[in-house]
Amino acid sequence: MTDRYCVLGNPVAHSRSPAIHAQFAAQCRQDLVYEALLAPLDGFAETVRGFIAAGGKGANVTVPFKEEAFRLSTRLSARAERAGAVNTLAFAGREIYGDNTDGAGLVRDIEANLAFPLAGKRILLLGAGGAARGVIAPLLADAPASLFVANRTADKAAALARQFSDIAAVDAGNFAEIAGNCFDIVINATSASLSGAALPLPAGIFAPGSLAYDMMYGKGETPFLALAREQGAARRADGLGMLVEQAAEAFLVWRGVRPDSAPVLAALRAQLAA
Ligand code: NDP
Repeated sequence: MTDRYCVLGNPVAHSRSPAIHAQFAAQCRQDLVYEALLAPLDGFAETVRGFIAAGGKGANVTVPFKEEAFRLSTRLSARAERAGAVNTLAFAGREIYGDNTDGAGLVRDIEANLAFPLAGKRILLLGAGGAARGVIAPLLADAPASLFVANRTADKAAALARQFSDIAAVDAGNFAEIAGNCFDIVINATSASLSGAALPLPAGIFAPGSLAYDMMYGKGETPFLALAREQGAARRADGLGMLVEQAAEAFLVWRGVRPDSAPVLAALRAQLAA
């Protein structure tokens, strides 16, 4: 019988995950189907249980359910435990296994696809929500010179910095507190670009040769990448590569085989440009 997978979110209709996993399955000759499943805001656990009862083997989890998926998991990977959030579920018998592939996806996109090593770099991470939480430990694992987490609500950035302080010292503050610092890579993990809002970032934060990375993606330039261009960031990238790489990592978790992400990313990029 064909194995069933899905992405659970609300909203979820816009998700590109079904197209990505269909291409991975064809490439790796895996017999599976992957669909987008809308979960009611107050009905995530019920939707997961219904999907398992219908023979579901695994699911990706997107906004706003990553923390609920963490709580629903009966076993967690070390990286999901660290992140406090789950974006990949695998079902076997009564077990709900929770993993988090967002950080691995981001780091692979930056280091492998964009050829931008993180070791020794000064990193600024904007945002302190689920996405930021998932990527801090994987970023620190590659030995950057420093990490500053800045968020509109400074308390949330400070809480995250404390949570990861056993790995390395992490600076935290609001956007104004970034002033006077300079970074080699600035990662936007806020959802500000979703509403077209520009972030109130101080001038002079982009070091020569720096990379501006927006986890958001879509047609055209995001407001954050436009601001980064105006402020002189040498390189700019959106989050489409992260999306494909976190999906490839989830596919590996489920099927034990890592698909080649490059042709899938190229196809998506061409679709967005059309
Ligand atoms: P959350 O809702 O958990 O967090 C949102 C964050 O954005 C908070 O830090 C919030 O600050 C901040 N924020 C929201 N609006 C504004 C604004 N107008 N100005 C300044 N800050 C703002 O979302 P996630 O962390 O799950 O997702 C963040 C983004 O990352 C989304 O755009 C999502 O699409 C993207 N993403 C992309 C992935 C990919 O594969 N490319 C994977 C995962 C996420 P505050 O705490 O003050 O409210």
